[in-house]
Amino acid sequence: MYNLPGPKSSELWDLDQNYVIAGRSNIADKVHLVFERGKGVKIYDTDGNEYLDFSAGILTACTGHCHPHLVKKLQEQLEKLWHVYAFPTPQRHELCRQLTEITPEGIDTFAFYCEGSITVEAALRAASSYTKSWAYAAMTHSYHGRTLLTRSLGTHLLPKKFGPTVSATHLHYPYCYRCPFKMKYPQCSLACIESAGDLLQSGTTEKHAAVIFEPIVGAGGIIVPPQDAWKRLAEICREKDMLVIADEVLTGVGRTGKFLAIEHFGVKPDITTFGKGLGSGFPVMVVAGKKEILSASPFGEAGGGGSSTSFGGNALSTAAALGTIEVMEQEKLLDNATRLGEEIKQRIGDWPEKFRIVGDVRGMGLLWGIELVKDKKTKEPDQNSWESIYEICLSNGVRLVPNRICPPLTITAEQLHHGLDIIEDAIRKVERA
Ligand code: PMP
Repeated sequence: MYNLPGPKSSELWDLDQNYVIAGRSNIADKVHLVFERGKGVKIYDTDGNEYLDFSAGILTACTGHCHPHLVKKLQEQLEKLWHVYAFPTPQRHELCRQLTEITPEGIDTFAFYCEGSITVEAALRAASSYTKSWAYAAMTHSYHGRTLLTRSLGTHLLPKKFGPTVSATHLHYPYCYRCPFKMKYPQCSLACIESAGDLLQSGTTEKHAAVIFEPIVGAGGIIVPPQDAWKRLAEICREKDMLVIADEVLTGVGRTGKFLAIEHFGVKPDITTFGKGLGSGFPVMVVAGKKEILSASPFGEAGGGGSSTSFGGNALSTAAALGTIEVMEQEKLLDNATRLGEEIKQRIGDWPEKFRIVGDVRGMGLLWGIELVKDKKTKEPDQNSWESIYEICLSNGVRLVPNRICPPLTITAEQLHHGLDIIEDAIRKVERA
């Protein structure tokens, strides 16, 4: 067990606070650790303490840290070209070719960005360009970023604290553990989704351009909807000539055992955003869809600059994305995510019965959430216990994102079970305390 923070971390962390503002993440602000290297599923702090990275950066280190294939690929690219802006490069072209092969049928065109919020904004600009409408619908419990538009669409409390937002119509997310209608699936006949028609009608007098949703809620606590939910929502929205946008910034790139999480739900969105894991830590994010939609003016009009960005699609990050896809194929990472997802289900599925503070566990592939509650009847959320569990896990060599299990897709069964042992033990300790 580590006594954290170690002296080197502590000293540099204190000095660093003179220069870098807080507010980066609730955990990074609290735990005074400084990390200096990573190898595979493990990361190391400046005192040499080793941690299993059960958060994969922030779901970014999809092939683990510093995968040798990516190191080689990036070293080769470093010698050739870093950045050129907008013009095609051989890497970007090859990445597009490969993406059309591994994404579902119907995706044939791409626009590249570096950050999730900017990517979501671009997807919405594309939708408005195509539909000539500027109102949007989104779902409760969702997170799409911290820019003005994305925080208006999300329902996360923190981004809302920045003040007034723009208007958006919010539909009920299919969150069965906290059903807004206090019903049970499937007897509910998806009442939450069926209410979308009325909510869209009363939400605004303008025409909606699109609905945007996370196929599985990420930051809001890994909420996995019923299998038929998105197909029905798409039907309702398409009847109103709205586009359907899946925000897979977090769930895409193999996390759930398929390249895109929406593939589990039998529906084809018009536009999809993805990217957290695509560069294995290098910033590369994608708006993907059909050419007919993405090329609409002004977003995709030739000569107009409507989809432009300084760094999007740069040579280094597209090389990292190509390297990630190659590793995914060589090491069969989608299969690994599916297989280990089943093991997680077997292993933690009964935690709500076993532990007083565990209200629900949900997930797919290597994306799982553990919802803690103060009381199983009232389901009052229990944030404090997560912070204690987080600190105990760190001292025992596991780095988490509170309430989530999302290690690199390269994790082995042995590493996974070792981490789960530590998490289980931490939950037990906190519950007893
Ligand atoms: N969309 C989703 C679904 C996300 O999970 C996130 C980030 N967690 C974003 C958008 C915003 O991404 P970024 O922080 O890179 O702006």
